[in-house]
Amino acid sequence: MDDRTNFADTPEATDIAYHFHAYTNARRHAEVGPMIIEDGDGIHVRDNNGNRYIEGMAGLWSVGVGFKDRRLIEAATRQLEKLPFYHNFGHKSHGPAIELAEKLVEIAPVPMSKVFYTNSGSEANDTVLKMVWYRSNALGKPEKKKVIARNRAYHGVTIASASLTGLPNNHRSFDLPIDRVLHTICPHYWKEGRDGETEDQFATRCADELEALIQREGPDTIAAFWAEPVMGAGGVVVPPPGYYERIQAVLAKYDILFVADEVICGFGRTGEMFGSTTCGIRPDVMVLSKQITSSYIPFSAIVMNDRFYDPIADESDRISTFGHGYTGGGHPLGAAVALENLAIIQDNDLVTNAREVGAHFRARLATLADRPLVGEVRGIGLIAAVELVEDKAAKSVSTVGRLGAMMNTAMQRNGLISRNMGDSLGFCPPLIITRDQADEMFEIVEKSMGEVE
Ligand code: PLP
Repeated sequence: MDDRTNFADTPEATDIAYHFHAYTNARRHAEVGPMIIEDGDGIHVRDNNGNRYIEGMAGLWSVGVGFKDRRLIEAATRQLEKLPFYHNFGHKSHGPAIELAEKLVEIAPVPMSKVFYTNSGSEANDTVLKMVWYRSNALGKPEKKKVIARNRAYHGVTIASASLTGLPNNHRSFDLPIDRVLHTICPHYWKEGRDGETEDQFATRCADELEALIQREGPDTIAAFWAEPVMGAGGVVVPPPGYYERIQAVLAKYDILFVADEVICGFGRTGEMFGSTTCGIRPDVMVLSKQITSSYIPFSAIVMNDRFYDPIADESDRISTFGHGYTGGGHPLGAAVALENLAIIQDNDLVTNAREVGAHFRARLATLADRPLVGEVRGIGLIAAVELVEDKAAKSVSTVGRLGAMMNTAMQRNGLISRNMGDSLGFCPPLIITRDQADEMFEIVEKSMGEVE
């Protein structure tokens, strides 16, 4: 029982009193207060004061088909009425999980064969790491357990996936990363490229640095390489041309698996159905979440090829079971919504819309490049970032995140929700956005920048 006598009487005060927020300075929350979203429709959301915003981040890079899509609501309702829960432990199964597994294998950008279900992006990456270890044991290579991710990568927040993540806030004070998870250079030419180095030379150096790390650690100890085709939460980083080709040549040389974390890129974001297609990646494993259900239901899936699956299946036979799975994995509601979501994306050709409206929006953003606060404008498909700097020549800001936060506040005041990752402003609206709405979104960015400059 709560022994506080003054129960709060507004939703804001109640939130401050009882709700411990994710990714928030907990002590500052009382001062800043919550933004309470009550309603969503299409690309818009509305707060409890009646203010309407363009959701320029599709929630958390995730509401692909927009808010309040009738087809998704009806598909969810039909499934709830028919079978609200079942699982896939042992040999149990159900229609939506079966149909979705077949569909994901069918649309995968490279030959794949099996699908394993989880509930979130973090859990999916965590599960893949466990599978990687299980597989190395199955192959009689118990020393082949280290994996390599990249600085500024985002793969989630469980102990394993936060370790794969290459951002300081996910490690600091959590005693992470765990052993066996290593990081290599972030392929961000604008930030990491050296004076006089071309993009092509930079791509080669990234692959050379990866190979040097593998050599230092011992090639027989490295099992897998993890990458978001286009990095999202690390600030929207599109690697230079040739980067993945060179990386994959190194991985092939040392028999190292490629795990593509498509949690943001998957289902049209980059202007193709998968970021792996956009970037020329041939993954052994793909991790899918967020836009798989447009985040109406928490859901994730791991899609894998035979090279990955077969040793794991053999090991489960040898030791009698694959001892891993989640109560909610492949949840019928999530699987039914994912199937309908995919049908909506295909029926409305939202991948082409993302490519075309994305190109238009990014062309407009590019006109900001000469503004005093803009260091770089980057992106692909319908995902973009504007990096703010105080000193253009030095590519630097004195107080990391200050400009980003100021711009974010100004955009919000003007009716646009974005997200600042330090001083990078992210843009990742629902895939359904029209050209006119993209113009409106850009005009808010431009106006807000004028207010902050
Ligand atoms: N992987 C990527 C690329 C992500 O962007 C995220 C979340 O933003 C995750 C994994 C983690 O997903 P979740 O928050 O569902 O655990």
